[in-house]
Amino acid sequence: MKKIEQLYEGKAKRVYSSDVDGVYIVSYKDDATAFNGLKKGTISGKGVINNRVTNHLMKMLEKKGIPTHFVQELNERETAVKKVTIIPLEVIVRNIAAGSLSKRLGLAEGTKLGSTVLEYCYKNDDLGDPMVNQYHIAAIDLATAQELEIISDYSFRINEILSEYLKDLKIELVDFKLEFGRTDDGEIILADEISPDTCRFWDSETGEKLDKDRFRRDLGGVEDAYLEILKRLLGE
Ligand code: UDP
Repeated sequence: MKKIEQLYEGKAKRVYSSDVDGVYIVSYKDDATAFNGLKKGTISGKGVINNRVTNHLMKMLEKKGIPTHFVQELNERETAVKKVTIIPLEVIVRNIAAGSLSKRLGLAEGTKLGSTVLEYCYKNDDLGDPMVNQYHIAAIDLATAQELEIISDYSFRINEILSEYLKDLKIELVDFKLEFGRTDDGEIILADEISPDTCRFWDSETGEKLDKDRFRRDLGGVEDAYLEILKRLLGE
């Protein structure tokens, strides 16, 4: 399979058309951004790690019945994925208060939430990805009510599967962000990535942060944290 033309360049990935009908190729970059692009940097080896971690988790989720865009890992940075139109929503799933939720609700980071929280943000860089609810989503036609039901149902299931899986690896799944896509047939499938860039992973025993917060908050040891996640998940 080969890349034909670059269709899109995001903050962490490039997307290309391929010589196979209905298949795109994503290429993961080492570039890192935070705070809606205000903080910029490079995390050496991040693209390779996020590609491999995402594929590992997507394959695991597929086995458990979640449809994903994963087709085939092509090399250490590139993966063939099903062509979809991304639904312009960031779906955030939270088990423990951290980040923007802690600020918004005045909850100390690490406070266990009584039940899982689902949030939607409208993917729009110019607006800073504002939070929206099901009424905004319907009113401005971001997704149909039926699609949103499928999205929320998958998101809760993904949370259960991932939390359980990571627990055995001594990783606590604090919160994470998902994106879904629509295939040409109208099917809703999991897209984008699941990696230390998009999840908060805390070591279950020490509470050490093993994710992008090390970059956001200048905690140091960013590369090592990403490598540790790769090691725990893929055993290398
Ligand atoms: N997240 C993400 N992309 C975004 C915003 C959030 O991947 O554009 C992830 C983030 O890594 C965390 C979760 O979603 O795992 C919740 O993020 P939060 O709302 O707390 O925002 P942050 O504190 O990261 O600004």
